Amino acid sequence: MDAISSTHIERWLRDCANVFPAHKDELNELDAAIGDGDHGANMARGFAAIPSKLDALAGKEIDGLFRTTATTLISVVGGASGPLYGTFFLKAAAPAKGKLKLTLPEFCTCLDAGLAGIVGLGKAVVGDKTMVDVLTPALAALHPKNGDSLTGALERAVTTAREAAEATIPLLARKGRASYLGERSIGHKDPGATSSALLLEALLGAVQG
Ligand code: ADP
Ligand code: MG
Repeated sequence: MDAISSTHIERWLRDCANVFPAHKDELNELDAAIGDGDHGANMARGFAAIPSKLDALAGKEIDGLFRTTATTLISVVGGASGPLYGTFFLKAAAPAKGKLKLTLPEFCTCLDAGLAGIVGLGKAVVGDKTMVDVLTPALAALHPKNGDSLTGALERAVTTAREAAEATIPLLARKGRASYLGERSIGHKDPGATSSALLLEALLGAVQG
């Protein structure tokens, strides 16, 4: 099994500075339907601020890349998603301490810790129509199966994430701004679920090179 390197992680985080601005309008529109229309702008602003912060960290340990991403998202993004994604990267940093490379099981430990951080902060459970609805099954799918390659596992996680984002459409929102709409939140895809799928797609792209 090939490993995830610090270079992969740096490429992933830098690529997000292109991916989220490219999907800004789409995410804003999803958020306009059930929230306040700023999720695309929040994600674009947050991730656009990251590359310049990573310049001093090229080739450095993975925990530092994650921690810098976390503090940047928390300080730059005003919405609920800033602290939530910030906590994801902050908690993912701890198991990566001092590491330049992670095996897939080690990487899963990091991302699972990140998701636990999101759940600890936001208290959402699967079915509440949030990013947790995507991250929970997608990170479960990332765990290695027999004979998996790294990209095979990532492809499975991305497919799962895309399906899980679509599956938020019929749900009633129980957390965040969308929950204020009650029944009117039904029939719309959750913006944070969609950005989580994009985050994992960017990871696959970065590992594929
Ligand atoms: P805000 O709601 O403050 O405008 P954003 O629009 O950036 O923030 O983010 C909205 C997204 O955040 C939602 O689509 C949802 O996926 C996610 N979210 C909101 N509250 C929670 C929560 N308590 N737990 C997990 N995710 C949440
Ligand atoms: Mg919003």
